[in-house]
Amino acid sequence: MLLIKIIVVIFALLLIGDFLSTFVYHVPEHVFGKFHILVHHSNNKSFIHYAVLTRNPLVLLDGFLGSLPYIIFVPWFWQISPIGTILGLMCGEFHVIWRHICALDWKTPSPVQKLCSIFCIVTPEIHWLHHQNAMVAYGDIFTFYDPPAQAWLRILMKLKKKIRNISFPWKKESQNNLL
Ligand SMILES: [Zn+2]
Ligand SMILES: [Zn+2]
Repeated sequence: MLLIKIIVVIFALLLIGDFLSTFVYHVPEHVFGKFHILVHHSNNKSFIHYAVLTRNPLVLLDGFLGSLPYIIFVPWFWQISPIGTILGLMCGEFHVIWRHICALDWKTPSPVQKLCSIFCIVTPEIHWLHHQNAMVAYGDIFTFYDPPAQAWLRILMKLKKKIRNISFPWKKESQNNLL
């Protein structure tokens, strides 16, 4: 029973955290913000440096906002299983570092790749696609969040276009590139 509680809490924390982080922060930030794009999608930077190790306050703030969805449910998960909560947060933190190690010429071993594809886990190679093209490869931890996240991205982009057309009707023609 204890083991089941631990496993359920780990998965619930990661599933809910990645869901909220993707749909409430990451996708809207790509459409309406500048901050995540500046920090996470700049060219010519080592991602392990600026996404994980740097002390630049903007980067830390992006990291903090991205990790907030994992943290807000901690008191609730803690009541079910403290060990599961700690392990879930550690798994999330480990995954942040792991998915950014592509900058070090990382190649995920094929057994690990197979396991990840069975469990729909994002590998560094998949996450790298998102860094290169902000339209693809959403979901920081789970790959099944990508299709709904891309749909959400398109909805928000249309909404942004509408808002701009209402506020600045003379700009109507020049709104093709919103990212
Ligand atoms: Zn990243
Ligand atoms: Zn992004």
